[in-house]
Amino acid sequence: MIKKYESKIVKYEHMNNSVIKITLMLEEDLNFKAGQYITIVFTNPDGERISRMYSIASSTKDKRSLDLCIKLIENGSASNIIKNLKLGNDIFFVGPAGKFVLTEESKEKDIFFISSGTGITPFISMFHELIDTGYKNTLTFINGFRDENDILFTKEISSLRKNDINLKLLNILSRPLNQNIIYKGHVQDFLSTIILKRQLQNSHFYICGLKDMIDSVSLKLKELGVKDEQIFLEEYD
Ligand SMILES: Cc1cc2nc3c(=O)[nH]c(=O)nc-3n(C[C@H](O)[C@H](O)[C@H](O)COP(=O)(O)OP(=O)(O)OC[C@H]3O[C@@H](n4cnc5c(N)ncnc54)[C@H](O)[C@@H]3O)c2cc1C
Repeated sequence: MIKKYESKIVKYEHMNNSVIKITLMLEEDLNFKAGQYITIVFTNPDGERISRMYSIASSTKDKRSLDLCIKLIENGSASNIIKNLKLGNDIFFVGPAGKFVLTEESKEKDIFFISSGTGITPFISMFHELIDTGYKNTLTFINGFRDENDILFTKEISSLRKNDINLKLLNILSRPLNQNIIYKGHVQDFLSTIILKRQLQNSHFYICGLKDMIDSVSLKLKELGVKDEQIFLEEYD
């Protein structure tokens, strides 16, 4: 159910040059599904209210504490406020909302989580859910970042990894510092080599990030023979 919530920032850390992780502490439980987002209502210095949506990165088991992973956009209206937030600041939001959640059918299949930048965020919460519900198939993260310094959540994913899940984690860099890496380019460039032939008909593909990436990935998947009903999308812009 969508409701208004008050919360406080209890952790604020830089994940890289332009992405921050904020942990919000709530005074009442928030029940949400992995993959959903909240809408934060900010007030800018002119007193004007602006609302922005942010996916939840943490486990659904943590009902009083939420992790968000936010890209600070240069001159972005909300980004300009978020970059000046401090520990202890109050954050008001409404939520949870969104239909970008794992289906029961997906849990019986191989799953691909395909993202660029902070589009990886809802997949961290979904990964917790897969672990908690005993998922036993193959899960492949295909994440696009600019360079080695921009990579997000690799440590968290590796530390959550359980032996039952056959986990593959591929970071594709568009402008790598090390020019000799194999995965240099954009996520859509590598789909035909990463996805096995037998997985094309029988897997579910979850894609999250900016529209251009989502369109390119969806088009590529369809060229490879993946059907609409196997694809699930969350657009950030
Ligand atoms: C359902 C949903 C969930 C979202 N979850 C997240 C999240 O978990 N983390 C997050 O960082 N953003 C997320 N966003 C985007 C977020 O809501 C804001 O649009 C973003 O933070 C920019 O707001 P702003 O006011 O700073 O910029 P604005 O002044 O509104 O400028 C918008 C510009 O930023 C670009 N932009 C928006 N999001 C991104 C991004 N993530 N990376 C690069 N460019 C971007 C847009 O293309 C546009 O050009 C989500 C959006 C939606 C619709």
